[in-house]
Amino acid sequence: MRVLLVEDEMLLAAQIDKYLRDDQHAVDVASDGEEGLYHGREYEYDVAIVDLGLPKLDGIDLIATLRSEEVATPVLILTARGGWRDKVAGLEAGADDYLTKPFHMEELLARLNALVRRASGYASPTLRHGGVELDTRTRSVAAYGAPVDLTAYEYRLLEYLMLNAGRVLSRTDLTERLYDQDYDRDSNVIEVLVGRLRRKIDPDGTQRPIRTVRGQGYRFEAARE
Ligand code: CA
Repeated sequence: MRVLLVEDEMLLAAQIDKYLRDDQHAVDVASDGEEGLYHGREYEYDVAIVDLGLPKLDGIDLIATLRSEEVATPVLILTARGGWRDKVAGLEAGADDYLTKPFHMEELLARLNALVRRASGYASPTLRHGGVELDTRTRSVAAYGAPVDLTAYEYRLLEYLMLNAGRVLSRTDLTERLYDQDYDRDSNVIEVLVGRLRRKIDPDGTQRPIRTVRGQGYRFEAARE
């Protein structure tokens, strides 16, 4: 997933950034509210993490502004211990969930995953589409009755395709979600990755759950169950 992180505590921001990158997510970090607003307006994110106490523009105003401009990205707010009024104000401004500092990175990641899943219309942590089953808790995948062993990038790609089943995702979309910004966008890394994923989940090529849409990108085809 592509994550916007708005946090002015540089040490904490660096820790979250590293943890999410190590888990194969793409992260943009903004260190004040104005920079966060710029990113939130300018780019498309799967989820945003917003600290409430921020320089220049506080987190509540940042969220309220994005929501008033119809930016629907799920938002998780970070609040200080005991700041229940902040939580209420943040949720009322349009945040979707909160986490109180200090927190465990595992809990942050679990909450982000749940927000993204729900935003895609899935209530259950297991994604199922026409014979392909992906368990987001154990990160295990089965396709047409057989377990499939995927690399971290193959898993992320399949998860993103399934979360957006029926939608065409361009190579740029996929590159932005899977790799850091400075990655070479012209390379054929996504084609190679899609090819490997297809061979693993559909070895004999009969089911074809991942379709190529000529000149546009890829679409996970199977109907949602
Ligand atoms: Ca702060």
